[in-house]
Amino acid sequence: MSFDFSEEESVRYSRNLILAEVGWPGQQRFRSGRVAVVGAGGIGSAALFYIAAAGVGHIGIVDGDSVELSNLQRQILHRLDDLGRRKVESARDAIMALNPHCQVKTYDTRLHPANIREVLRGYDIVLDASDNFETRFLVADCCWLEKIPLVSAAVAAFQGLLLVADPGPGNPCYRCLMPKPPPPSRQEGILGAVAGVMGCLQAMEALKLLLGRGSDLVRRILTYDALKSRFHSIKRAQMPNCPLCGENPSVTGLVNSAR
Ligand SMILES: [Zn+2]
Repeated sequence: MSFDFSEEESVRYSRNLILAEVGWPGQQRFRSGRVAVVGAGGIGSAALFYIAAAGVGHIGIVDGDSVELSNLQRQILHRLDDLGRRKVESARDAIMALNPHCQVKTYDTRLHPANIREVLRGYDIVLDASDNFETRFLVADCCWLEKIPLVSAAVAAFQGLLLVADPGPGNPCYRCLMPKPPPPSRQEGILGAVAGVMGCLQAMEALKLLLGRGSDLVRRILTYDALKSRFHSIKRAQMPNCPLCGENPSVTGLVNSAR
């Protein structure tokens, strides 16, 4: 059974197909999967490359910035020739050059409460690879209220954090970990490889969710300390007084969360 994949696709995906955990049914799940990635920066570059290479059929890219020279140290979707171009266009071209079987939809915008539902509705999974807490909280709230599983990856200096917020009964949401955004802090440095590691891990969780295998990170967070070369996985649980998923939620609609 080959689910009407072409000869070219059966060769392209041959290393996926010989995995018992993927095979033709899994490849079909990738192909029919709809994944939105918020942020075509350092984390999003790695995540987008790997979900596209694996054969995820429908990919949404959300970003409202242009490519700058200081991006190229970590945002490997974009090249010198792309300087000044819109990031969503540069990212789409890079993905299509790798795997033209992907259908890419671009959203050249910064997300805000008035547009986010329209952008994210209809996606099976959202990957948050954004670089600011305003967007992060908005995406987390929207995904929870719209019941879309969210894979959230973040980096700061040499630290990385990964979690999955799956809006099922008893599962903790993003705000169970961080009830409200922290105060603004100065911009931190980042080595591109740290963002790349977290983007790869994020892509892997998305692929497992598409395969229907779930994710152990629904009730855990994964932290990465690049300087010490250590990963830690820490259990987390739903907070009864969580402002989003608790017994008396105060967050019941979408607002600008950096308040
Ligand atoms: Zn919660």
